[in-house]
Amino acid sequence: MTRPNLTIPVKPTELELKLGCEDRAVEGGYAAMIRTWAEDQIPRADPDLARRLERLAAAVVEYGRMPVPQRREVCEKVLRALELYRKRYRSGQPPDKLTADHGLGFLRGVGPRRAQTLRNLGLHTVGDLLRHYPVRYDDRRVLPLAASLEHRQSATLIVTVTELGHVVGRRGRAMAQVPATDGATDLTLVWYNQQYRAQQFEPGTVLVVSGQATLYRGQLRFIVAQTEMLSRGGEAQEEEGETQEQTPQDSDEQRLSVGRIVPMYRLTRGVSQGWLRGLVAEALEACDPLPEGVVPASLAEARGLMPLPEALRQVHFPTDDTLRKAAHARIAYEELFELQVVLARRKTSLTQDSGSASLPGHALMAEFIAALPFAPTGAQLRVLAEIAGDLERPTAANRLIHGDVGSGKTVVAAFALMSAARAGKQGALMAPTELLAEQHYKTLREPLQRLGIPCRLLTGSMTEDSKRRLREHLEVTGGEVVVGTHALFQEAVRFRDLAVAVVDEQHRFGVRQRAELSGKGDGCKVFVMSATPIPRTLALTAYGDFDVSVLDELPPNRKPVLTVLAWGKERLQAYETVAARVAAGQQAYLVCPLVEDGGSNDVAAAEREFHRLQEGHFAGLRLGLLHGRKDSAEREETMRKFREGELDILVATTVIEVGVDVPNATVMLVENAERFGLAQLHQLRGRIGRGTEESICILLTRASAPDVVDRLRVLERTTDGFEVAEEDLRRRGPGELAGTRQSGLPDLRMADLIADTPTLVQAREDAFTLLEANPSLSGDDTRALREALERLEQEETDWAI
Ligand code: ADP
Ligand code: MG
Repeated sequence: MTRPNLTIPVKPTELELKLGCEDRAVEGGYAAMIRTWAEDQIPRADPDLARRLERLAAAVVEYGRMPVPQRREVCEKVLRALELYRKRYRSGQPPDKLTADHGLGFLRGVGPRRAQTLRNLGLHTVGDLLRHYPVRYDDRRVLPLAASLEHRQSATLIVTVTELGHVVGRRGRAMAQVPATDGATDLTLVWYNQQYRAQQFEPGTVLVVSGQATLYRGQLRFIVAQTEMLSRGGEAQEEEGETQEQTPQDSDEQRLSVGRIVPMYRLTRGVSQGWLRGLVAEALEACDPLPEGVVPASLAEARGLMPLPEALRQVHFPTDDTLRKAAHARIAYEELFELQVVLARRKTSLTQDSGSASLPGHALMAEFIAALPFAPTGAQLRVLAEIAGDLERPTAANRLIHGDVGSGKTVVAAFALMSAARAGKQGALMAPTELLAEQHYKTLREPLQRLGIPCRLLTGSMTEDSKRRLREHLEVTGGEVVVGTHALFQEAVRFRDLAVAVVDEQHRFGVRQRAELSGKGDGCKVFVMSATPIPRTLALTAYGDFDVSVLDELPPNRKPVLTVLAWGKERLQAYETVAARVAAGQQAYLVCPLVEDGGSNDVAAAEREFHRLQEGHFAGLRLGLLHGRKDSAEREETMRKFREGELDILVATTVIEVGVDVPNATVMLVENAERFGLAQLHQLRGRIGRGTEESICILLTRASAPDVVDRLRVLERTTDGFEVAEEDLRRRGPGELAGTRQSGLPDLRMADLIADTPTLVQAREDAFTLLEANPSLSGDDTRALREALERLEQEETDWAI
């Protein structure tokens, strides 16, 4: 690792721009020069920079063939990239003032090797380090005297090693014993299974040890769980020749590591708590000014928030618990506020977009409801009204419709599609699988026809010829609805006038695919439907730029599905249950294990299971097999047979998760249930309990680990999809906010979506209020916020080439 090359090609880029981007600025071609330069840097760059440079190199490849406006854009992107590069990686003279944007190499004690190590923690700049918040704290304000310790008491002590130790084997457990003193009392430090500790510390070494006291034959032993070295005994040592990177002064470390609440950080190989603590302290001191944050001062004050610089100091080196909590609150608010401002801006930019048509809404409702074979639930009526509002408003719409399995989302979506068609425009419904697309098509075709609206189907497995004919049709004909798979948003499909797009089971589509579909129509109104309920915190973050409708009521007469866990021998009993139900004229689903790497292995496993059961336990019964590799005619045929009672048992992969509605199926076995997510299992069991008979879902598992079993028990306990979703989130953690990565949203490092929900709600309210009052974020108070948003947007677009 070295500092990257200082000669940054800013000048040639500026010249190229000045000469009108005609590729005259550089002999041999501008693009070639930039590419060579970027590629030269890559081997010496950290991963983040390397990635940027790679994109840069790739971006200029086509330069020679680009039209001038596009070239200009590339040049401007290159300039911005170079500016960033210079800010973060420039070496040379230490700056007068260190800012959060400076690389960590500017801190004392960080040479190339340490810098590399810190990058393993994702830390590149001083700002990154300031945001590397402690994962926990150790309260070392008052350390007890060794003499005061009782048997089995847990404590943290400061001790000085008095002699080199030795290893004692005892009952098969090796134990390093090292004599030490706390100044008043002699004691023996004990490490289990770390023999190297015996000879590690020269006499005179000062340690902070956390662990447990034991009194052994009247002698005090201290079983060490955690060790920190405060200062070394013996001769001064050189650490692997990197003297210039020696630990900060011993006294510094003592000051930071004892007699206070001490931060404990996430570490990596080659970085110790003590060293990192010293480095953070140095960054806090050297960085001038410390970041003030993006929350407008007036708002921070109104919310009683601690100023960010103080919060940063307190979060790393708290004076007491109250101030530490105040610091946490400030930083969590800071993050959530920024996130919500981004979301609020996206949302308002959509609803201010006036390129969208006003469609019939409430006026159509009575006619629509009359065409349904059932009375809508109260929740459906409410959501229909919300959708009607979106349809009537002459702006784009972005609405998430979520609710439990079977709450009747399809019907409300049909309403929006109908409205588009009635207006002479087009409505499209997109489903994640062919099976589901076909099912939706069947459900919608009849009621829509009754309303005088033609409905068509487009899936990937149709013949090229019929696809082409349908595409040509879509280019010219309005007043219709089309249902399909992702084939709908492929480039070749051009809608004449797409006004409403409905995306079912949206979690299976990427953010980009969603955008692609709505990009098919100007000001298209988009409704996305989730398979299962979405926890409130996610609705406010991952879907924070959507309006949200909830179907929190099931149609009447639904019988809850009984769910039980089963192990080992109970499998046979489960098979008996299936056989008994079949004997009584009912039907069963057998869901095959998901194979780790998915894909074709799932299919093979399902096939094996099918043959095993057909020839073994269920010989004589009529079994069908369904998986994603069967072509649609075959699947269709299997589904038809199952629906019409010509099959007793359907062996399937998770393709039945969606789109299958057979009321006579009353029992489901799920193999290796522990491999599924809770929400997914909930979605699966939603395939039964659709008729008048009691239904049972048996979750077969080999797992015995308490946390795994505990997780599955949630499904035994409740049939409420909202509860399942919250539990799922709580257990998995919101780490991967579905689909928010790479989408220009700020990171949450401190805020915990579950613990900080009240802060989230407050920050959201404040963000939306602020934007309403000051949509352009003008003024001094919002400068930092404006700049942060610009940075985010730039990161998003700079590299999206
Ligand atoms: P999901 O919300 O899981 O997508 P669907 O839209 O597939 O649910 O509806 C599940 C079933 O319930 C369908 O067979 C549908 O016809 C039926 N259904 C929907 N709404 C009602 C209602 N209000 N009363 C009775 N049945 C309904
Ligand atoms: Mg559905």
